[in-house]
Amino acid sequence: MTKDLFREDSYLRSCTAIVTACGDGFVRVDQTVFYPLGGGQPGDTGSLSWDGGKARITDTRYVDGDIAHLLEIGASVPVVGTSVELAIDWERRYRHMRMHTAMHLLGSVLLYPVTGGNISAEKSRLDFDMEDSVDKEAVGDALARLVTEDHAVSCRWITEEELDAQPELVRTMSVQPPRGKGAIRLLEIEGVDLQPCGGTHLRSTAEVGAVRIGKVEKKGRQNRRVNIHLDD
Ligand SMILES: [Zn+2]
Repeated sequence: MTKDLFREDSYLRSCTAIVTACGDGFVRVDQTVFYPLGGGQPGDTGSLSWDGGKARITDTRYVDGDIAHLLEIGASVPVVGTSVELAIDWERRYRHMRMHTAMHLLGSVLLYPVTGGNISAEKSRLDFDMEDSVDKEAVGDALARLVTEDHAVSCRWITEEELDAQPELVRTMSVQPPRGKGAIRLLEIEGVDLQPCGGTHLRSTAEVGAVRIGKVEKKGRQNRRVNIHLDD
């Protein structure tokens, strides 16, 4: 299995690695900073280079249960055992981190069940199971306040046994953790949100910066889709 360095430190922009498998248009390595598509967050893009070669990574996905770096069509592919350097498109990923962290803030402002969501560098959305209309100005103000208050963001791993020993932790979570997969990764925004999440986040809410509530779409009687944008 590929060691997922981005889960311990989402600010890593590059790493060296050894190619463990390769095929038509993809490469696997022993460790990576590339986030694979999941949880509504897109897979990272970037570059792969090695002695005598270079290729664009156009997407990162879980394929057959492990991380695959998808290469541009026609790219040369390094053979197994090659030492490579991987570098993500940092500006794009950093916007994903800002958006992803902003999504947690939005979910803490609108306390309704979340039924879906999607993140991109330009626009993100969360779908809420709610009938009420959304007061865009109030929600925008609440988001801006959480950003200004600069809450610390951190991740930690917890076993199911530790979780069972702390039932109050589960009660405070906005989403119940999945069971039967061993350790659970918890995302905590101090005083704001606690829930299981595998994505990449910021260190503090201040880094979210200027965020704006976009269109609120009515998707059925009991579903409101709230779009957000980064204003820079
Ligand atoms: Zn998250």
